[in-house]
Amino acid sequence: RVVSPAPASPNEEALERALRPKLLDEYVGQMKVREQLEIFIGAAKKRGEALDHVLLFGPPGLGKTTLSHIIAHELGVNLRQTSGPVLEKPKDLAALLTNLEPNDVLFIDEIHRLTPVVEEILYPALEDYQIDIMIGEGPAARSIKLDLQPFTLVGATTRAGMLTNPLRDRFGIVSRLEFYTPEELASIVRRSAGLLGAPADPEGAFEIARRSRGTPRIANRLLRRVRDYADVKGDGRITLDMAQRALSMLDVDPQGFDVMDRKLLEAVVHRFDGGPVGLDNIAASIGEERDTIEDVIEPYLIQQGFLQRTPRGRIATMAAYRHLGVAAPQAAEG
Ligand code: ADP
Repeated sequence: RVVSPAPASPNEEALERALRPKLLDEYVGQMKVREQLEIFIGAAKKRGEALDHVLLFGPPGLGKTTLSHIIAHELGVNLRQTSGPVLEKPKDLAALLTNLEPNDVLFIDEIHRLTPVVEEILYPALEDYQIDIMIGEGPAARSIKLDLQPFTLVGATTRAGMLTNPLRDRFGIVSRLEFYTPEELASIVRRSAGLLGAPADPEGAFEIARRSRGTPRIANRLLRRVRDYADVKGDGRITLDMAQRALSMLDVDPQGFDVMDRKLLEAVVHRFDGGPVGLDNIAASIGEERDTIEDVIEPYLIQQGFLQRTPRGRIATMAAYRHLGVAAPQAAEG
């Protein structure tokens, strides 16, 4: 699938690392987040203190991991990286925390998936740079306090609403990443093409950008596929024509929607009369996980105005009917 939430393979992960901007100035778009971070990072550096804890939220592939690397790089400190599901036991997190050097950045991806016991030891760590750990077992077990070096936690999640309140309250900086404009994505595609040594016309780069669901990860992924296509079917140059042909072969339509996007819209329109329909019914109907629909597929459809989220369920908009080439019923007109 073109729009999978995470890097599709070790190969792609290596590519992502190579394409990752290292400085805040190279990070395209997200003006508000960048402006804020520039000031807060500058202030922390000037005072020689750890940066406040940062929570980044937004759909997959918008640059949360990239930003955490940039934060560490700009602060001139180490980055330690882990993720919620990996930290099974309190001691896994304790081991990471006690090994941090002053002002280091700890990045926890999918932070909403921390277990409650692990989350529990994170609270005093975030607030007082201290942890309580248990030594020994049974009746002899006792808890001791350990001091930590000051550090910055950067947490990433697809939905801020999935965090517990006490955890969310401990972040001083909370930033929401937005979908990128086609122009921003085009500049990412041109930069990536340059790094990959793939010659790309501005029109070819823009066509890829326009069809990338507002998401840099997808833009870089499509660039790679279009480049393969241009290598085999053309002379390697990524032209508008090559991009259009490659993308239609990949089932990415002119709106940038892929098979799953269309499946979802078709289900709502044809099987549920345009809605309102609940998420579970959509999930069952298109054979996709509820979470994937909510985190990956739906946000872009909503942002683009093809789907509406209402208290009674999801509703297809006029734009959805138009996109599928179906006449809208009376109810959807209003
Ligand atoms: P997330 O952690 O939100 O899932 P990543 O940080 O892994 O997303 O970004 C995915 C890919 O997109 C990376 O390879 C990165 O190079 C690219 N990318 C993300 N945001 C930007 C940006 N603002 N400018 C340039 N490239 C970006």
